[in-house]
Amino acid sequence: MFDKILIANRGEIALRVLRAAKELGIATVAVHSTADANAMHVRLADESVCIGPPSARESYLNIPALIAACEITGADAVHPGYGFLSENARFAEILERHNITFIGPKAEHIRSMGDKIEAKRTAKRLGIPCVPGSEGGVTDDDEALRIAGEIGFPVIIKAASGGGGKGMKVVRNAEDMSVALSTARTEAKANFGDDAVYIEKYLEKPRHIEIQVLGDGQGRAVHLGERDCSLQRRHQKVWEEGPSPALNAGERDRIGAVCANAMAKLGYLGAGTIEFLYEDGEFYFIEMNTRIQVEHPVTEMITGIDLVNEQIRIAAGAALSITQDDIVIEGHAIECRVNAEHPANFRPSPGRITSFHTPGGLGVRVDSAAYQGYTIPPHYDSLVGKLIVHGRNRDECLMRLRRSLDEFVVDGVDTTLPLFRTLVRNPDILNGDYNIHWLEKFLAAGGMGPEGQ
Ligand code: ADP
Repeated sequence: MFDKILIANRGEIALRVLRAAKELGIATVAVHSTADANAMHVRLADESVCIGPPSARESYLNIPALIAACEITGADAVHPGYGFLSENARFAEILERHNITFIGPKAEHIRSMGDKIEAKRTAKRLGIPCVPGSEGGVTDDDEALRIAGEIGFPVIIKAASGGGGKGMKVVRNAEDMSVALSTARTEAKANFGDDAVYIEKYLEKPRHIEIQVLGDGQGRAVHLGERDCSLQRRHQKVWEEGPSPALNAGERDRIGAVCANAMAKLGYLGAGTIEFLYEDGEFYFIEMNTRIQVEHPVTEMITGIDLVNEQIRIAAGAALSITQDDIVIEGHAIECRVNAEHPANFRPSPGRITSFHTPGGLGVRVDSAAYQGYTIPPHYDSLVGKLIVHGRNRDECLMRLRRSLDEFVVDGVDTTLPLFRTLVRNPDILNGDYNIHWLEKFLAAGGMGPEGQ
């Protein structure tokens, strides 16, 4: 087992990793920018190292500074969290060259899944069902039109190196193709440094359903059921739940087995998520995330399995502590991402938190690095905390979520709490009757008042 883990991240996920490390008896090193000198992850770690100025590029993404921090502190492993360097294959390789373990998948798998064209090819080869579309990158109008002709309009043009819901263009007819293709390529180049784009069938009313997997790197892999992340704004997840209100046990076992077998065949190491769109009873692979995700607690609450603990143990060369038969889904869990943003127009609201009171009681978990008096810096994402609630069934979970949201106090900054208080009382949400467009439509129709339109 490792002696000391350096956590190359900040905020709630840095705390999450720190907690898992402490429970394994492993010492922890926090790194921070000058803007985060007073942050909770710095206070709770055994040691901390300042790695640069506020801009993420010069601190949390600064590989030489991170390597130096490992060398100064004698850390023998690095957990990257999510975002920042978590899906950077080069970082994983550089660490390896310094004899430091990257707590994550093999670099080759990060690389192949990081390129979405390559990821789809790999998925197809492993027997995972994909969205119909181009086999590879698309550069010219004639080819784009030919593919659209085969799969039928509407289609979506996506950046091979895209992420965070950016760089996607829906094309509804042949006349719009040429402009859409050239804008998509220009935007992809500007945002991701790579103008490769591909085309897929645009699904009109799918749900976003993703399967959590764990692999030991030696051909054994398990799945831990699904999360439904259909409630999105600008392709960003807002509310995640598991099990999905749309799936039955047979469908779960079927797609779960497909994913676990694929990961076993690949020799996948660590935690990962295989993301699908789900429409009319069919699953369509869209991408794989080769890291721990923001919404991982949903799965932890319904399986009782500590995913970060598993990540660390697997990275240290241990076998999976569980077999597929040990994984039993119990009850229902919902996560709300509480962001420091206006609840209707989503304008970021950094600043000082004047009061902070989190809900508690049976089945309630808050993953947050915020505290009363904490100033949310403007340099990073706006996540204040995640409220995760578990109940014996979906109805109990919803009632518990409702009362937990009413207990949650964050003063001094705008937060998305009022949005969740509205959602948890909405009939469609209560019935589980929503798809990936539901939230945008709800907001556009004035669901959160005129400011949200
Ligand atoms: P990113 O890596 O940027 O998150 P994804 O490929 O995971 O991109 O897609 C993000 C979201 O975009 C999906 O959850 C879904 O809402 C939407 N989306 C992606 N592909 C399609 C598609 N073929 N049809 C309809 N919606 C899509």
